[in-house]
Amino acid sequence: MEVRVTTSTDGAARDRFDARPVFVFSTPPTPNGDLHLGHLSGPYLGADVFVRFQRMRGVTAWHVTGSDDYQSYVVECARREGREPAETAANYSAEIAATLRLMDIEPDQYTVTDADPAYRDGLREFFSRLVRSGSVAPREDPALVDAATGAYLYEVEVSGDCPHCGDPTGGNICEECGEPNVCADLAEPRSAQSDAPPRQVNLTRHSLPLHEFRADVAAHHRLGRVPARLKELAARLFARDRLDIPVTHPSTWGVPPLEQGADGQVIWVWPEMAYGFLHGIESLGRRLGRDWRADSPQADWKIVHFFGYDNSFYHAILYPALYRLAHPDWNPDIDYHVNEFLLLEGAKFSTSRRHAIWGKEILGPHSVDAVRFFLSRARSEGRRTNFERGEYDTVLKETLIGAWQRWLNDLGARIAERHGGAAPEPGVWTPEHTAFLRRLGTRLSALTDSLGADGFSLNQAAETLDGIVQDAARFSSLESAVKGIEDWKDQTRTATALELAAAQLLARSAAPVMPRFAARLAGALGAPPPADWPQAVTLVPPGTRIDLARQVFFGAEPDEQPQAPPAPAAAAPLLPWLRGLVRSTLQLADDEPVDHRGLVELGMESL
Ligand SMILES: [Zn+2]
Repeated sequence: MEVRVTTSTDGAARDRFDARPVFVFSTPPTPNGDLHLGHLSGPYLGADVFVRFQRMRGVTAWHVTGSDDYQSYVVECARREGREPAETAANYSAEIAATLRLMDIEPDQYTVTDADPAYRDGLREFFSRLVRSGSVAPREDPALVDAATGAYLYEVEVSGDCPHCGDPTGGNICEECGEPNVCADLAEPRSAQSDAPPRQVNLTRHSLPLHEFRADVAAHHRLGRVPARLKELAARLFARDRLDIPVTHPSTWGVPPLEQGADGQVIWVWPEMAYGFLHGIESLGRRLGRDWRADSPQADWKIVHFFGYDNSFYHAILYPALYRLAHPDWNPDIDYHVNEFLLLEGAKFSTSRRHAIWGKEILGPHSVDAVRFFLSRARSEGRRTNFERGEYDTVLKETLIGAWQRWLNDLGARIAERHGGAAPEPGVWTPEHTAFLRRLGTRLSALTDSLGADGFSLNQAAETLDGIVQDAARFSSLESAVKGIEDWKDQTRTATALELAAAQLLARSAAPVMPRFAARLAGALGAPPPADWPQAVTLVPPGTRIDLARQVFFGAEPDEQPQAPPAPAAAAPLLPWLRGLVRSTLQLADDEPVDHRGLVELGMESL
């Protein structure tokens, strides 16, 4: 029976990316600490791989992020460290940028909000647009203050039980259910400043009646890629009668609005970020010579957001309403990619409590691709995943060294031994050979889908990359039964050519996830670093020099890298240097015979 796939009207206006500027945002990190593996595995690796893949497909995509300096967490951290908030922000903002570089994540635009001279004026103008729309206006509502100091309590300064799900939460947003609160509605509120129960007061702040935007948000959610989890959150929120969201708060850290009646208050950092994204596009455009303006967003802009679930309310519900008010003629076309929390030994990673594995603890030029592969695999997509210390070492040892490197080295050794170190010309094809080639094609289309804009999933991409190696190692093992048998040598060289095709596919298709590994593997196969996404599985041109046998792709520190051997004078089957190298790499005795023996047979596991 034929199965028909039909598409609904949702997303019918979904333009292809090809001709549009694509701005891929990872949530600007808060500079109250360095980045840990939970952060890195979420928005930052996601946005980086997304952009690398799109560029290989010929799309003009940019990764835009920055430092979200005006978070209240920065004030709290500065107080703990005995510094001014600006110092704390500048310090961690620089640390964060350095950690991103160690992860090979180099955003095209990194806005530091407290250090950008044009930012304040642009933000104030955006806020004035909201006020001029008539929807954002001063409104008196209950608020909490510390009973002893009288200080205004919100966000990190207050905690209690979520009025919506009952779980313990901080002020303003619940990380468990994703719903906003207004602090005064917390059950059993506690102040971070004193032990006395907080006092409730009435306070006038600028406020947005978000409940009036249900239809606008729903229309927005039909336009782009909006995960069901975000639509469900919107349905929960808009079931409330009223949803008055204060958009200014009493604070000395942040940008005060120009409007009257907001004395001693600043524009709340979350609505601020809605402007920050547009400001980032303008700043990027200035450097690229493009006339993109924050006060005049364009219909052809494609925006893609990567963020953790606890930011869902802001990105996917609050900002579309703010854009509707500030730029009523703009219909923002936004795709959303949301990740859940990564747990560390059963508990949430936490910057403020320093329960984390920090990027700098584990990242270096020789580990970065293994870390990127590991985090792609472990990333919390659609469910929380747990990270145990030691798990990374297991994946490195058993998967990347024990399977990937072992197969590639063994393939290189066989090519050196039987084909003089050059890619063989395929001979006779068997049914299993064509089946293997088709299977590689299936892997390529699976990867194309899992790195693509609609089905993006690093979990699936990592699994498929590993699948290429598993397929190839299995194929190699089955075909090895006839190796060295004269009658079947034309079939054997086809099998070897196909294994090389698998290695070439791995080099090209691993490039977005593991750029250094991909470039080195491509180099070992006689090709430049992969720049284009492969359209099909192809054979390595016969005669190409193959330099796989001695490559250390994973797990080596710089001083453990083998010295480059002198270039072989002739294509001898197995040159003395290779013999010596095999012995030293595998720590074999000097008299151990290595000719005509596979690396596996020689105990390759010892690496
Ligand atoms: Zn909750």
